[in-house]
Amino acid sequence: MRLAQLRSCLHVFGLLALLTAFSSTMTFAADRPLPNVVVLATGGTIAGAGASSANSATYQAAKVPISKLLEDVPQLGQVANVTGEQVFQVASESFTNDDLMVLARRVSALSKQSDVDGIVITHGTDTVEETAYFLNLTIHTKKPIVLVASMRPGTAMSADGMLNLYDGVVVAASSSARDRGVMVVLNDNIYSGRDVSKMINISPNAFVSPWGSLGMVVEGKPYWFRLLDKRHTTHSEFNIDHIKTLPEVDVVYGYGNVDGTAIDAFVQKGDKAIIYAGTGNGAVPARLVPVLQKAREQGVQVVRSSHVNLGGFVVRNAEQPDDKYNWVAGHDLNPQKAKILASVALTKTTNSRDIQRIFWEY
Ligand code: GLU
Repeated sequence: MRLAQLRSCLHVFGLLALLTAFSSTMTFAADRPLPNVVVLATGGTIAGAGASSANSATYQAAKVPISKLLEDVPQLGQVANVTGEQVFQVASESFTNDDLMVLARRVSALSKQSDVDGIVITHGTDTVEETAYFLNLTIHTKKPIVLVASMRPGTAMSADGMLNLYDGVVVAASSSARDRGVMVVLNDNIYSGRDVSKMINISPNAFVSPWGSLGMVVEGKPYWFRLLDKRHTTHSEFNIDHIKTLPEVDVVYGYGNVDGTAIDAFVQKGDKAIIYAGTGNGAVPARLVPVLQKAREQGVQVVRSSHVNLGGFVVRNAEQPDDKYNWVAGHDLNPQKAKILASVALTKTTNSRDIQRIFWEY
């Protein structure tokens, strides 16, 4: 073959290769359109605004609408087709059981839509751990459900909300996030909604899970390290579609010199369970044992939890004879999460042994 012929052959070959590459890019784009992610906004600091950029702690939560939050992160458009919906505009300490039900029903309905691939919920940090656990227990879907929040309002220097929202959408849009239970994404970490908790009240590294995070988001990509072993979402026996109301459950804080006033008041109010947030290993002072026994005789469930922050692990029949009193050991759940699980469990059973099984399994 002469040199000129060889050149023109190579030229045609090059053109063909270019066309092939171009068409495969096109095919790739057509085969894999961007996932659809719905962002449900509920308020919190992530929607907060302060008077000056130096205000990282003094500001008003729940001010900025979801349309503005999404506009501020145009990079979301490269990750997913994102639509926003304002469900509430509140600080999360004001969340009620009714709010939990409204939010969970909306999440459940969206998760059944074929045009929704993932759901993000913007939330205040104060009770995000409760909402995340509630959804983890009651939403039957394998689609990623991700709660995001921030410790600083968007008006502050070094605000963390934009990146947390971006990371949350990255996780919700990722097929690798399916069937991992409901997650909370903050400060680069992907936590399980089951055991993450707010442990610091003033800085962006506020959230910790005693058992570590599930993974991390780095530059728009999720990296996974663990699976949640406890039952969740599609593996749960609870389903928001069948829950009509949530039984009242309250937490009594344990400390030196505590008396039975709060327990008696909650029993009188009609609570169905009391979480005793005991010291150490869910310890109960001798003078409160008869008060709690009396509550139990009146049909109120007694759950021993611990207010020790990082690793309040309560062992059944240690500290108190739970078998004898028909009490429940709260396992590793902190008091506010034990409150959520007890309330959900009581929608199905009032048998304390069954409630104990539920505490081990979830
Ligand atoms: N207390 C407010 C809330 O939980 C603001 C705290 C926050 O979001 O960081 O919504």
